[in-house]
Amino acid sequence: MELRGSGIGSGIAAGVVLRMPEPLAPASDAPRTAEADTETKRARDALDRVATWLSQRGFAVEGEAQAVLEAQALMARDPAVATDIGQRIEAGANAERAVFEAFASFAQILEDMGGYMAERAADLADIAQRVIAELRGVPAPGVPESDTPYILVAHDLAPADTALLDFAKVHALVTRDGGPTSHTAILARAKSIPAIVGVAGADDIANGTLIVVDAAASTVTVDASPEQVAAALARRDDLLNHASAPVTAGALADGFRVPLLANLGAPEEAAAALALGAEGVGLFRTEFMFLDAPAAPSVEAQQAKYTELLAAFPGKKVVVRCLDAGADKPLRFLTHADEENPALGLRGLRALRAHESILRDQLTALANAQAATDAELWVMAPMVADHDETAYFVGLAKDLGIRLAGVMAEVPSIALVADQVFEVADFVSIGTNDLTQYTLAADRLQGSLAAYQDPWHPAVLRLIKQLGDAGAAAGKPVGVCGEAAADPALAIVLVGLGATTLSMAPAALADVRAALLTVTLGEAQARATRALSGRSAAEARALGSR
Ligand code: PEP
Ligand code: MG
Repeated sequence: MELRGSGIGSGIAAGVVLRMPEPLAPASDAPRTAEADTETKRARDALDRVATWLSQRGFAVEGEAQAVLEAQALMARDPAVATDIGQRIEAGANAERAVFEAFASFAQILEDMGGYMAERAADLADIAQRVIAELRGVPAPGVPESDTPYILVAHDLAPADTALLDFAKVHALVTRDGGPTSHTAILARAKSIPAIVGVAGADDIANGTLIVVDAAASTVTVDASPEQVAAALARRDDLLNHASAPVTAGALADGFRVPLLANLGAPEEAAAALALGAEGVGLFRTEFMFLDAPAAPSVEAQQAKYTELLAAFPGKKVVVRCLDAGADKPLRFLTHADEENPALGLRGLRALRAHESILRDQLTALANAQAATDAELWVMAPMVADHDETAYFVGLAKDLGIRLAGVMAEVPSIALVADQVFEVADFVSIGTNDLTQYTLAADRLQGSLAAYQDPWHPAVLRLIKQLGDAGAAAGKPVGVCGEAAADPALAIVLVGLGATTLSMAPAALADVRAALLTVTLGEAQARATRALSGRSAAEARALGSR
């Protein structure tokens, strides 16, 4: 059987499925029906088993994961927790409810203490979920455990889940939800693992099924035959050979330079990006470092991260984006959980402006890191709508010592007033993921709307052209850092529309570098003109790909 979705990248993988366990239903608050002693013993036994499991896992892993698991094992063994659970059961609660409430009350204490202790509160919720799963005899929620490689099938992945994935084991991702620019897709590109998102039949793929994930064809072959597996593995080897072609600076066939930059989410990703030939960083997503943080990070903590990042790129350009909180990247210290329509809400610069001290701290940390290193730091704000917002951000950034300040073009309005924006911005970077979402009014996370999330749409291309023209008229750079830049055929069209740099997941650099070398600037512009005349995304793609 073959299922279809949106393929991410051009990779291919074959392997056995491991499903992400479903989230647990909340613990019922019905009074216990068993004797207090029996119920208490059941709860304590479950707690013990979880503590032992956590210690054993702690031995098996290294680094930060080990420290987290050992700390969790200690918390699960804390006698105060067991006593509290016992008292709640004595007072009439069932075991699951007592576990839930006891851990929630300890979590509250930690949260009230703030700082490092508050960060551990989420660990307590995680232990409670594990104990409740144990009491129910169902798999614990969260990232599954496996000693052997597998293909992960899930509804979708929360950013916090992805931090725990062991990419030496996870060979591919298949998700029911999510579009080609959802953060699961971005993660898959960053880790260069094949993924298919928005697969309608993903819920029917059982644990243990042998599947082939072909990202270029956007297909998942369920119950793959030995021949299909062998063919997939042969294609994978071909792709690996192609990726090891020599690394050269990004340029067209006539020598016209198009610097190729990397999209990163942590300083630790710098070395791999440099190895793949990144000429700098075109988008550093700062919010990815603070997804779990209960409170705004201090200037010092941020400065250390930014200094580490900049130090990895001496003499090179590094574009850092200020915190882009909201929608599927909520930050506890910046986002309101009860927004009805968060993608259209207090997101990006809007949220930062409403919490200006957080923005000031981030800009100060960046300015300090800029002074301490010799990378060329560019700083930009996400989700900026017009001249007023640009002037606000650029003015504040310069006041706080940032030398080069610009904005992301993600909301269609900014393209319509691009000439005004360039009066104040040093540069513009086009986020085609959001620009497409907002132009087509289609939630980029909804698998059912994935067809709208196509940056080849002529409306999106026309907005990009307006930005390119305005940048050229002002003599200022216009980069593209959305996922569109990672599509080799579209990368050529983007250059033809006026993009001066392209930034992408490092894994995409080799394919884009090779594609750019096949055309001159005149040919790229001719392709762009043809694509602009398309009457649909599909027609624009067909016209602009040759
Ligand atoms: C974009 O919207 O294209 C972008 C690069 O930002 P993000 O994907 O992080 O929203
Ligand atoms: Mg964006």
